[in-house]
Amino acid sequence: MTSIESHGKLVEPTIAAIASPPGPAGIGVIRISGSNSLAILKTIFAPIRPLSSFTSHRLYYGWINDPEGGRPIDEVLAVYMAAPHTYTREDVVEIQCHSSYLVMESILALILRLDAVLADPGEFTKRAFLNGRIDLSQAEAVIELLDANTRQGLDMALVNLQGGLQHDVAAIRQVLIGMLAVVEVAIDFPDDDVEILNGDQMQAQLDNEVIDPLIKLIAASDKGRIFRDGVSVVILGRPNVGKSSLLNALLREERAIVTPIPGTTRDTIEEVVNIKGMPVRIVDTAGIRNDAGEVEEIGIQRARRKMEEADFIFFMVDGSEPLTADDNELYRIIKDKPVILVVNKADVAPADPATLAGVFSDDLPRVMISATRGDGLVELEQEFFDLVTQGQSWEPGHGSVPNVRQQASLERTLVDSRRLMDGLVHNMSADLLAVDLQAALDSLGDIIGETTTEDVLDIIFTKFCIGK
Ligand code: GDP
Repeated sequence: MTSIESHGKLVEPTIAAIASPPGPAGIGVIRISGSNSLAILKTIFAPIRPLSSFTSHRLYYGWINDPEGGRPIDEVLAVYMAAPHTYTREDVVEIQCHSSYLVMESILALILRLDAVLADPGEFTKRAFLNGRIDLSQAEAVIELLDANTRQGLDMALVNLQGGLQHDVAAIRQVLIGMLAVVEVAIDFPDDDVEILNGDQMQAQLDNEVIDPLIKLIAASDKGRIFRDGVSVVILGRPNVGKSSLLNALLREERAIVTPIPGTTRDTIEEVVNIKGMPVRIVDTAGIRNDAGEVEEIGIQRARRKMEEADFIFFMVDGSEPLTADDNELYRIIKDKPVILVVNKADVAPADPATLAGVFSDDLPRVMISATRGDGLVELEQEFFDLVTQGQSWEPGHGSVPNVRQQASLERTLVDSRRLMDGLVHNMSADLLAVDLQAALDSLGDIIGETTTEDVLDIIFTKFCIGK
């Protein structure tokens, strides 16, 4: 949204949007932000008890009426929140109406007829960021909170929303700024620079207070990614071993609170389940089915393609019957991927361990299950969790977990810091040290939005929905 000029001063236009999701619900919310918010409210809202003025942050009961003709639109609750104690730090009005699309559209249309424009996606949060109420890492945490589909993902978003990452970054920044101050003094007094720059002390400080925390944050990001972005699994096996039954069993137990993702191709089904806090996208290749059961003909190519896309594989065999040539053929293709051998139909007849031992490598993790009875699912989930986390007992919720963009900035800061370390070790001149320090500060500033370009900001904020 472009700024407009008023009395020679640039002011942001007042924005408005429906802030609640579409569809029938108890309450719908319309949000207005900007300097005209209160005037708009006064024009369209008639409180049940006459008022001389609105008190900030108090809820009022009344009606929204069309100012032209006075036609009543809806019975509502309205709140006026005076700047700066608001989400955007501007004057904000929120109107709680009945959540009918027609009602919400009518109220929004009234507002837009007055002095307001429709908000862009994420514009309320962008204003909160531009007006300094939150930094970029917190704005991103808002998106992550909205997108989280497991408790662990939510916990990670909450840590950053409360400024967890901002705090970590600020601590590193302080150290770099302190060093830059020293280096700048050395630049101003070149004859004394050796005394001013205490190389050993700076190296130790750089190591302990910059490089080490950066490495820890980058590692947390790697580990946290599985909880935030999830992992993908493909269930592979020849027809009728029980792949769909396993998917259904996992869905019954652990369906994630997300809408199912339609399969990318007609021959696969994709669903997201929550396995020990990890959003796991499971692809069932149930569509790979042909009555002749000829894996060579149709299965292998698709299996190969699906396998390449997936992070992990559940390789399923039917434990109630001997292994077939098709089983062996499939296994041969997948065996270099992270695989769990899932021996199904344990309720019918336990597979002969000797038969399996001859075919599959001994260190292949394996679980006996009965997809139809639900036996062995807990063990399968545990085995899978161990495989994904590599046995490291790491849980989110303790400390901040940078996202991919933030991790990239941290990695750039690390490269800059190591270059700086190299400079210190080799007694480089203060001018060169200053360049590396500034580079490190710039890379780090990208996380909190200080050095982030307008293009990147746009990309981040358009990930939001309108009204947020
Ligand atoms: P898919 O072709 O691999 O997806 O296999 P399905 O899930 O469609 O299952 C094929 C057949 O095996 C169906 O008749 C299932 O009821 C049966 N089945 C699947 N899992 C089990 C199990 O654990 N025990 C038994 N006894 N039958 C199973």
